[in-house]
Parts: sequence; structure tokens; C-alpha cells
Amino acid sequence: MWKKRLVQIFFSGKKGDNLDVGRIVKVSGPLVVAEQMGDARMYDMVRVSDARLMGEVVELRGDQASIQVYEETGGLGPGEPVYTTGEPLSVELGPGMIESFFDGVQRPLDGIKEQVGDFITRGVEINALNRERKWDFQPKVKEGDQVQAGDIIGTVQETTLVEHRVMVPPEIASGTVKEINSGEATVTDVIARIETENEVQDVTMLQRWPVRKGRPYKEKMGPYIPMITGQRILDTFFPVAKGGTACIPGPFGSGKTVTQHQLAKWADAEIVVYIGCGERGNEMTDVLMEFPELLDPQSGEPLMKRTVLIANTSNMPVAAREASVYTGITIAEYFRDMGYSVALMADSTSRWAEALREMSGRLEEMPGEEGYPAYLGSRVADFYERSGRVICQSSDEREGALTLVGAVSPPGGDLSEPVSQATLRIVKVFWGLDASLAYRRHFPAINWLMSYSLYLDNVADYFSETIGEQWNDMRKEAMRLLQEEAELEEIVRLVGIDALSAKERLTLETAKSLREDFLHQNAMHEIDTYSSLQKQFKMMELILMYHHEAGALIEKAAIDLDLEKLFSVPVKERIARARDMPEEDIEEMENIKSEIKEQIGSFAGEGGEEYA
Ligand code: ADP
Ligand code: MG
Repeated sequence: MWKKRLVQIFFSGKKGDNLDVGRIVKVSGPLVVAEQMGDARMYDMVRVSDARLMGEVVELRGDQASIQVYEETGGLGPGEPVYTTGEPLSVELGPGMIESFFDGVQRPLDGIKEQVGDFITRGVEINALNRERKWDFQPKVKEGDQVQAGDIIGTVQETTLVEHRVMVPPEIASGTVKEINSGEATVTDVIARIETENEVQDVTMLQRWPVRKGRPYKEKMGPYIPMITGQRILDTFFPVAKGGTACIPGPFGSGKTVTQHQLAKWADAEIVVYIGCGERGNEMTDVLMEFPELLDPQSGEPLMKRTVLIANTSNMPVAAREASVYTGITIAEYFRDMGYSVALMADSTSRWAEALREMSGRLEEMPGEEGYPAYLGSRVADFYERSGRVICQSSDEREGALTLVGAVSPPGGDLSEPVSQATLRIVKVFWGLDASLAYRRHFPAINWLMSYSLYLDNVADYFSETIGEQWNDMRKEAMRLLQEEAELEEIVRLVGIDALSAKERLTLETAKSLREDFLHQNAMHEIDTYSSLQKQFKMMELILMYHHEAGALIEKAAIDLDLEKLFSVPVKERIARARDMPEEDIEEMENIKSEIKEQIGSFAGEGGEEYA
């Protein structure tokens, strides 16, 4: 019955054909209450009034339904009809998503523009995936083959960077290929027929999936491979694993969006899904303007060729933010299922939580902390739990990964507020942005003393085996120096710099170098914007090598050293500039090493006396 209904909707061409009609009894902002809704189920999608505004049932009491409407409800009134669709809020999955820019309910913005002009009018019904476009389908199975859910039956070159792997949809558990086509096909053309136990089913390149339900996989595995971002503070100090979760909380202007953009540009994921969730409108415009210009560092191709953008446009009400988060993650899971490493960025999850709060208030639910609903924590957890490195559902046991990074915007930067707390309880990496660092223009303004990554042990082997055996020790030493700096600064504040020994002064000097020459990284600088792991390793080596050489000298020196002079030997300038050294020149850093040895080895005091 259920399936039949789905099929009906599917082939009626227009999703959401009127199955039943309810009546509006009350309108309150994005909330519409309707009666005679006995046939509706929780999270069913409905069309509200003859303007056919999109909504979702969020509460059912008898035959009364509370509906969260994803479009402006101005002008609606009691008595107007509500059409149930019998289908939960779903997304279309198939070729044509990459390079697209969707709104929160997966309407392609360029398609809307074609249909109704620059401003989204209400109730626009438009297919997420283009129905006319033809794709060159290359079969990977033949007649008579046994297949099961998730098996790849063919591929389509969706963009120059992405091979779209067409899979047996999850609802076909297993069967025999009766027919398989090849060549030009639209997403709704039948490309295969699969015979199951009791029927022969048509398969197209288009799947639908309800957004609130995680897509199936066979098994979750531990995350042991870092997602390389090219951002030194992230990769070296607080790495996120592929399939892991991270959050970026920070007050207004501290760098959440810039950091998310950096990840979208540089993270070594095969697919990027970027959700602009209710942050200032111009930030999304930046994405729109900037992303099409960017090139993929690996292939030299435009980055959009592996990116899906989702945004709540400014004229969509807050409720749509909720939909955008679920739309985004479902699309991301679908690419994970193909066996890709996918990264999803959401900016900002606080705007989503605020939408939950507003809806909960209107539903007159019992408020939890600061007016957020009591289920805030479980909603946030459910979202992040859709991350993971998995063995995909399929017979070839391929592996996919979905990494989730959410920005959080706590009012005033106060992390004790409910959204930050709910997020910190569940994510494994915390990149804490600090207003005072941003004020001093130390970017990325990630506080190195406060931030953490719970993946450090998991990914340690990867770094020592692929980059350098010393990686983890160097990281530990650098972090220790930065922590010591904080303690020493406290002493200096209390009793002055003269209270410190020469060795302690050197610790301060090295920590300063770590901060200014390594942690600080300019996202706007052509070269500095991305550092390979090899470059990060070598930069760290230089800073620590200077520290060790200078430390040995201090220990050996019989008389007081001119520390000012020791801290400003010419090679220090070279160390400071290493970050602007192009990747192809990083071998030059070996020369800097010799210069360190040379200049400290021959370091002489004011009177020309040799110390060594
Ligand atoms: P938020 O999203 O937290 O409000 P933004 O990401 O918009 O803050 O950052 C605000 C400003 O800080 C940016 O416009 C930029 O000038 C600066 N900034 C942030 N991060 C960096 C960075 N890594 N490199 C250079 N500038 C940065
Ligand atoms: Mg921002």
C-alpha cells in the first residue's frame, strides 16, 4: 500500500498530488494548524493552501496536525485547504546534484530563477534534478548477474571530477538483472530491470530518500585516517579524522565562516556539501561568487565540480533552516554510499537550533534551557551521528566516509549556552575560536590552549608512517612549549621578565615563533592559504631545531648570553618566512637548517667571545 502510494506520487510527475484535503484552523508565523488531517503521519510533507506552500507535519493530535511551513505564511487564513502528499519530506538523489546550488528543500536556485525570476515566489514546485538532461550511462553489470541493495550497476561521469555511481536502491534487497541498458538516459529513464522474489522492478538513476532517516550502511568502522585540511593548526594540533565530527564555535567575526570556507576549498574530501544555514545573506553571496572561481589543488579543475551548495536564501523563513540541514546530510550520505570520502560543512548550526526553538515555542512545548526544546540535545546528536567511516551496504564491501563540521555561534561567545553544550557533548574535535585572538588579528583565531581533538591517538600512526617518524613527538613538544608559555606569562605579569632564567626566556621566544610563524596562517595569502603536511612538518622542524640549538648553547655558555641577539640571529627571519615558501621549494628548508646550525654554532657575544 505504502509502496504503491509512493509509486503513484512518483509517476504522477508532480510530487505531492492531492490525496486528502484538510482545513487550516490557525496560522502563527511558520506554524499552521490544520484539521481533518487524520490520514497524515508525522513528518509527512504537505502543501498548504492553493499557493501550495511546502510544509511538514511536526505534531499530530487526533485529526489535528501542526505543520512547519518552509515558506512565508503571510496572508494565509483559516478555512484554506491543506493537501497531504502521503510522503515524508524527501530529497531526490541522482546525477545532477554536483555543481548545483539548492535551497533548503532542494529546489535548484537556477531553475527557480528560470521559472519565476530573481525573487523566489511562494509555492514554487520544481524538480531537484533536471528531467531533460541526458547522461551517458555505462553499465557495470550484465544480464543474469545477481545484485543486492547498494551494488553499483553502472556509472555516469557527472562532472570532470566526479564519477556518479548508480546503485541498486535500498528498497531492492536482492535480485537478478533482467535487463541493463547503456548510453544516453535521463534520470527517470529505466536503465535496468531487476527481478526480485515476487516481481520485476524498474530501476532509474533517480532515488528518493526521506531526509530525516539516515541511509543504511553495513558497518561503522573506527576513524583512523586524518582529513587533511592544509590548515596548520588543524592538521598538526587538532586533526579531524575522515568520518569524524568537529565543531567551530566562536563569537561573531571570529572566523567561523572563513574556516568553513577553507575546509570546503582545501579538505581532501572527494565530495563537499556546504550548507549555508541562515548566516548573514552576504556570506552566502560570497560563497556563490567565490566558489565558482576556485580551483581544486589536486586536479586544477574548478572546485564546484565536486561540490554541492545548499543555502537558505534570505527570503525563506527560519523553518527552512531545519530542512536544509537534513537535505544536506542526506545528499552527503548518498555520496558516501558510493564509496566516497565526503565532507559536510554547516554554517551555522546555531541558526538551525534557533529555528527549533521558535517552532517549539509556537507549539507551546515545555521549554528546556533558555527556551530551547528539551530534545535539542538529541536532535544535535542524531545529526552528528550520521557521520562515520563505513563499509557501504553492497556486496563489494567498499568504504565510504562522511565527515561533519558544524559552526556554532554562541551569543557573546559564551560556550555555556545550550547549543554549544549539546554540540560539545557529541563532537570529537573542538576548534574554539577566540574573540581576543581575532581582535589581535591572529588568524585563524583558534585558541590552542582550549581546543582539542579526541582523534589524536587514532591518527598518530598515519602521521608517523606517512609524513615523518618525529611528527607526534614534535607536535607534543610544540604543544608543551605553548602551554609553558601561558604559565610563564603569568609569572612575568606578576614579577617581571627578569625573574625568568635564560632557558625560560627561550621557551617564550620559541612559543612566540610557534604562534606567529606556524599557527598564524593567512587564508587570503596565495601560498600561505594551504600548507601540505610535508611543509607543516618541515616548518615545525625548523622552529624546534632553533629551539634545541639555542637551548644547547644556553646550557653550555659559561657567561651570560646576549639573549636579545641570540633571538634575532638572521636565520630567525628565514624561519618566519618559511610559510610563504611555495610547496615546490620546500626542499630549501634543508638549507635553513644548516643556517641555524651555522649561526648558532658561531654565535658570539658582544665582545666577540665565542661561547661554543
Ligand atoms: P564569523 O563567521 O565567525 O562571524 P568570519 O569568518 O566572517 O567570522 O571572519 C571575520 C573576518 O576575520 C574575515 O572577514 C577575515 O577578515 C578575518 N579572518 C578570519 N579568519 C581568517 C583567516 N584564517 N585568515 C585571514 N583572515 C581571517
Ligand atoms: Mg559567519
